Amino acid sequence: MSLEKTLVILKPSAVQRGLAGEITHRFERKGLRLAGIKMMQLTDDLLNEHYAHLKDRPFFQRVKDSMMACPVIVCCYEGVDAVQIVRSMTGATNGRVAVPGTIRGDFAVSSQENIIHTSDSPKTALDEIARFFKPEEIFDYKLATLPFTYYTEEYQIV
Ligand code: ADP
Repeated sequence: MSLEKTLVILKPSAVQRGLAGEITHRFERKGLRLAGIKMMQLTDDLLNEHYAHLKDRPFFQRVKDSMMACPVIVCCYEGVDAVQIVRSMTGATNGRVAVPGTIRGDFAVSSQENIIHTSDSPKTALDEIARFFKPEEIFDYKLATLPFTYYTEEYQIV
């Protein structure tokens, strides 16, 4: 059980299809705390870093172009075990395979145009938050609803 922050990017597929509110609503209702949010235009340099693990894949350039098609919305959420929670709410990479009830399972039918990016491990989350946010863009306020969101031993670490 650990307090974590994680990165979510609402991709151009979410922005263009008018799904930004729907998706942020899901994370809010789950009980995660929104620590940062902003709109930004991604660049080739930023994406070379962010998707470095895909650089040898044949679709690398196409994925980068898709991520630059319009501004994205980057969000930082916090909660106990937030990385795993957000990842499981995201669903499988391919929207056609993602289980209904997950974000990709409910809103995507593509392996590329799959609505959101979410950090895949606590270590990646730290790197990604630092990549997309300046320290002063992350807010560490307390939610008044903590005792109604967690039991005492859980919320004492929050
Ligand atoms: P995830 O986003 O689920 O963590 P990856 O890090 O493997 O998945 O891939 C990053 C992004 O690259 C995916 O979200 C998707 O937009 C795109 N992508 C991955 N695999 C494919 C594929 N086989 N065909 C097309 N696009 C892909």
